[in-house]
Amino acid sequence: MGVDRREKGEVPAAIIDGRAAAAQMRAALFERGIRLRERGIFPCLAVVIVGEDGPGRAYVRSLVTAGKQTAIDVVVERLPSAASEPMVRAELERLGRDPSVHGVILAQPLPPGLSIRAVAECIPADKDVDCSNPLNQGRLAFGSGTDFVPATPAAVMYLLRRSPAWPIRGKHCVTIGRSQVVGLPASLLMLFEDATITVTHRHTRDLPSHTRSADIVVAAAGVPRLITGEMLRPGCTVIDVGTTIVDGKLVGDVDFESASRVAGAITPVPGGVGPVTNVALMKNVLRACERLTDGP
Ligand code: NAD
Repeated sequence: MGVDRREKGEVPAAIIDGRAAAAQMRAALFERGIRLRERGIFPCLAVVIVGEDGPGRAYVRSLVTAGKQTAIDVVVERLPSAASEPMVRAELERLGRDPSVHGVILAQPLPPGLSIRAVAECIPADKDVDCSNPLNQGRLAFGSGTDFVPATPAAVMYLLRRSPAWPIRGKHCVTIGRSQVVGLPASLLMLFEDATITVTHRHTRDLPSHTRSADIVVAAAGVPRLITGEMLRPGCTVIDVGTTIVDGKLVGDVDFESASRVAGAITPVPGGVGPVTNVALMKNVLRACERLTDGP
């Protein structure tokens, strides 16, 4: 059936519901968190934020809420925007030594002059729940197993597993964006599942020629509505990681209206990757806590 009618825009794509997926994940994590608390262990994530222009209050609120829903304490450590690199390093090391903290993340964006690359090694590998430390990134890249798959790529894989595209072995996945936090690790994770990967970026010529041959498109460019229906192969699966505020609204990298008339399955924005990302992060915090305190 499908493809001809899809080409004519008659068959709407199935929605891959991130909120429902996140709710399911949360229930299991909450139980794990409560089990730890009953033993007097209080799983704790420390979020280091540098400067006033860092991630918005909404992001921090969403982490605190995700923590409550999974029985994890979330503490926010704010440093002034003029904080020097040694100050940031010292704060990360302090949290590394603090036995009441089990996970440490450095929120981005950072003020100009600071780069996560320069300081991420100060997040101890066993508390590096968003896989920022080069040691963990290397382990991920070599497929030798890091304890912590970074949260957003983990969410991409989780949603793919719930999509009609799974299993992805032998399928052609096109990633749009090659950042260290999303595009690149998501590409590696799909490669480890035996998919064939094309990684595109801002210098890629003729993006549509790549996306039109994709069974799976993972859009993580941060360019609102970059991907339209006419750039997609009918029946493909689309995972939209992009989040940009346009006129006060959260907008993805995919033009949902045209794309959902061509794709077979698609994640919405909001309500797709975002809710799963926070839960994936909390899953890593519980894992860190269980390992640091000797088991669930
Ligand atoms: P980034 O700016 O670090 O990287 C963007 C990547 O996209 C780069 O590799 C760049 O070369 C590529 N790119 C930019 N314009 C392009 C174009 N026109 N064609 C092809 N490639 C292009 O961003 P990031 O941190 O990887 O985040 C990407 C997006 O994902 C942002 O919108 C961000 O807000 C969002 N994000 C969402 C979540 C979530 O939980 N939903 C988590 C992290 C990031």
